[in-house]
Amino acid sequence: MPGLVLLTIQAVIYFGVMAALLRARKTYGVGLFVCALGVMHFLETYLAAVFFIELPFGLLSPGSTVLFSGKLIMFLMLYIREDAEVVRQPIYGLLIGNLLLVVLALVLRLHTDVVQMPGYAPDLKFLDQIGVLMVWGTLLLFVDCIMLILLYEKLSSLFRRNALASAFVGSAAVLTFDQLAFFPVLHWVTGTPFSALTGGWVAKMGAAALYSLMLAAYLRFEAADGRKGGRPIGDVFQALTYRGRYEELLRRSLIDELTGVRNRAAFEQACRDRLERTSVDARPLTVAMADIDRFKEINDELGHAAGDAVLRAVGRTLEAHVRDDDLVFRYGGEEFVILFRDLAHRGGMEIAERLRVAIAQEVEAAGGRRVTVSLGVASSEFGAGDLRGLLAKADKRLYEAKRLGRDRVVGEAAPA
Ligand code: GH3
Ligand code: MG
Ligand code: MG
Repeated sequence: MPGLVLLTIQAVIYFGVMAALLRARKTYGVGLFVCALGVMHFLETYLAAVFFIELPFGLLSPGSTVLFSGKLIMFLMLYIREDAEVVRQPIYGLLIGNLLLVVLALVLRLHTDVVQMPGYAPDLKFLDQIGVLMVWGTLLLFVDCIMLILLYEKLSSLFRRNALASAFVGSAAVLTFDQLAFFPVLHWVTGTPFSALTGGWVAKMGAAALYSLMLAAYLRFEAADGRKGGRPIGDVFQALTYRGRYEELLRRSLIDELTGVRNRAAFEQACRDRLERTSVDARPLTVAMADIDRFKEINDELGHAAGDAVLRAVGRTLEAHVRDDDLVFRYGGEEFVILFRDLAHRGGMEIAERLRVAIAQEVEAAGGRRVTVSLGVASSEFGAGDLRGLLAKADKRLYEAKRLGRDRVVGEAAPA
């Protein structure tokens, strides 16, 4: 059967060159591999729409059999050799690039001054068909890739990390799904006969087997170099889809590692937010600055680990005793700032006192040593509506509290 031989030769050349590019990533970068993969996509879409061959088991498309099935295996191979963070880049790149291509093609359709080239008539109907197939095929591809990688991870633990079995079962399942989902649209758009559904499926199963064999051989050849196997499937999914990445980064960048309360950067951001809103925001704001008393002694006598534990306990206690709307920040080493939103001075003083008592009662260092804090409080109702001005005032009052003997709250002096 010369048809099958040609397909096999195509698949072997395709895999061989792509595997060599992947292997070369350590020397030349992974861009070579990814870019070549993207270019193949063009030929694949064109062939899948218009080029079929007839074999005893039905009609099949060399584009789908060799290039589409191969591409899925390439994504899997990139994932196995690198990780979810790397493979998601081309997965998203193809999705975005294809949608961009369709948009540009749509704009192209608006030209009315098209020049006829001798011997060539631009086939715009074909462009439209390709556009529909591109959108559908690309969305499917996106789902296929993520499915294949997750499935491979699951199957790997089932098959005791046997790459051949995991890749074959995984790719056969995903290619079956893809064939069932892609064919109805292909049939609707280009009228491809139904014998291409079964013929294409048989061919894809053959491709899954051949590619899995080559993949396993490649993995064996390029001996595993410290890949962290068995990553939780939820993590892989999160990484593949970029889910939670932004939130996680944002969250982490604004949280103090040691105490878990907001950090100095978060405070600076709050200052900017407040500055933007001051002209429209007449609501009161009260700021408290808290500093642990004689903290240096705790460090010196009990060690820094004990000091750290006290910092964590103070952060927790502050968070536990403020209202939901209030914000707690670790401003410096053992200094915390608390923002009481929509609260005037009297209310702020009451909560500050509550915080002082809570810490004196609940926080103790190793060996039962009591921990106390001093607080300075300032409010916007007495001028200095901007946060930095308020903080400077609160800081001064904090020093006053220290001077008066510590473990106390100092606020606005009673009006004379
Ligand atoms: P006062 O009552 O006047 O505030 O006395 P103090 O000893 O608390 O004041 P001081 O500002 O001199 O001491 C603060 C100490 O906090 C100094 C520093 O070593 C310690 N410190 C700062 N950051 C950390 C930290 O992250 N962990 C630990 N364990 N100690 C820290
Ligand atoms: Mg201190
Ligand atoms: Mg201090």
